[in-house]
Amino acid sequence: MQVRPSQAVRLRQEKFGGTCYVPHRDDIFAANHEVFGLLRALGSNWAKVPKSLDRAYQSLAALGICETDPATPEISYSGPSLLGQFEEFPSIEEPFVVNCFSTAHCPLKCLYCHADDLMKEQRTSEGDESSADLANVAATAGMLQSLVVVVTGGDPLTRPERTKVLLKSLAATRM
Ligand code: SF4
Repeated sequence: MQVRPSQAVRLRQEKFGGTCYVPHRDDIFAANHEVFGLLRALGSNWAKVPKSLDRAYQSLAALGICETDPATPEISYSGPSLLGQFEEFPSIEEPFVVNCFSTAHCPLKCLYCHADDLMKEQRTSEGDESSADLANVAATAGMLQSLVVVVTGGDPLTRPERTKVLLKSLAATRM
């Protein structure tokens, strides 16, 4: 059987093994050393794996973490987020997700979302948020080795130029 990682899967080493983010399912898994070793062993292209590991990789493919040839269908979101045996619940030292504000503005102020302490009531002038803010956001996010970075606000679409700059800066910290 051949195996390759699913597109854009992110791995992060941890004391207990590692964590894994699967973008197309927006799902995060914690793997013990043994399972994380299987993930780390994969390159970016198809590779033949020993027959004795077929079932292990098929289980990972069912969760969307890798792909197999012949194909393994993915299962629905059934909830297994720990891969392998753990003596205690794993804890992480860096966050899974970092939310990055591209702007504090949102013109709509929906009741269920608007955070008065973080967001500004209404759009005022374009000049009341500086590009230094964006540089600080990107630099801070770059120091945190999160698996996922979410660009948010306010509404990033109200400030497309700022959002574009932030996305570029964040991408540079993730290369
Ligand atoms: S960010 Fe979206 S959901 Fe939140 S207040 Fe603005 S429009 Fe509403």
